[in-house]
Amino acid sequence: RLYNEVQELKGNIRVYCRIRPFLKGQNKKETSIEYTGENGELVVANPLKQGKDTHRFFKFNKVFGPSSTQEEVFLDTQPLIRSLLDGYNVCIFAYGQTGSGKTYTMSGPSINSEEHWGVNYRALNDLFHLTQSSQDTVMYEVGVQMVEIYNEQVRDLLSDDGPIPDASMHCVRSTDDVLELMNIGLMNRAVGATALNEKSSRSHSVLSVHVRGVDVKTDSELRGSLHLVDLAGSERIDRSEVTGDRLKEAQHINKSLSALGDVIFALAHKNPHVPYRNSKLTQVLQNSLGGQAKTLMFVQINPDEDSYAETVSTLKFAERVS
Ligand code: ADP
Ligand code: MG
Repeated sequence: RLYNEVQELKGNIRVYCRIRPFLKGQNKKETSIEYTGENGELVVANPLKQGKDTHRFFKFNKVFGPSSTQEEVFLDTQPLIRSLLDGYNVCIFAYGQTGSGKTYTMSGPSINSEEHWGVNYRALNDLFHLTQSSQDTVMYEVGVQMVEIYNEQVRDLLSDDGPIPDASMHCVRSTDDVLELMNIGLMNRAVGATALNEKSSRSHSVLSVHVRGVDVKTDSELRGSLHLVDLAGSERIDRSEVTGDRLKEAQHINKSLSALGDVIFALAHKNPHVPYRNSKLTQVLQNSLGGQAKTLMFVQINPDEDSYAETVSTLKFAERVS
């Protein structure tokens, strides 16, 4: 079989696919995904069973099926996060249409349910354990920032200063400190939005974690940063159906997601020119993409047959950045 190589373990870019389960109360359960899961392979069947492309084949570094747990997903993410303490810059993205599970993967369904915590809480929790257990040899400082990018404007979610060139940095010493900050961030995100879910699906949110470690004996210093990005929904908007603000939003999202695709494409192909300047998103992440950086993209899939067209478009994006 000829698989489209979405991602080999080459370079520092890897792509995981996660298929969310059908939700409770969803009675129609027709799927377009023929998921094998072996070796990261995924097959998407055209529900109309017409034309020559009745099946499309994709290959990822890993595929997480609908019954995969938050813990399983984190176990395959943890080594990347830990490389932060070796001085790497790490970027983790969730890409996919609205409702495909991006926020579930990055944050989880609720802050209060530890069992369902997503990558970001688990990552910080893990970092605190590691930094505390090595206190005798390396002293670590951890700072976090949280911004939202909406219509090409960056907004600091942890301060009230409006659009800013640099987001405020907050020193954190424990997972509780982080939970407190994230709650503030989530509340600020909701301010001004008529419906949080509506708006959050049309903005990117970026949680940045900066670590500075100082070797107690030699005084040498190491810095690493981690960016956890819940991207705006990738669904294509029918231009004939939206106007005004919605059209503007859609154009901004389109522009920034394709700018991100272009940057990762250039990095994966080791192109000498990496087009960071084309969007606010890629500008914010510039220092952490490329060079000594590691990138992980979660490609989120809705199993629903009705999502077939969006699923294919999501998978094509993933294919392009490989
Ligand atoms: P997105 O952020 O991409 O718009 P969400 O993360 O909000 O999507 O997910 C949409 C719905 O599906 C939410 O109710 C979420 O709790 C649920 N969901 C997503 N992924 C999973 C999963 N792996 N297991 C259980 N429920 C999930
Ligand atoms: Mg979301």
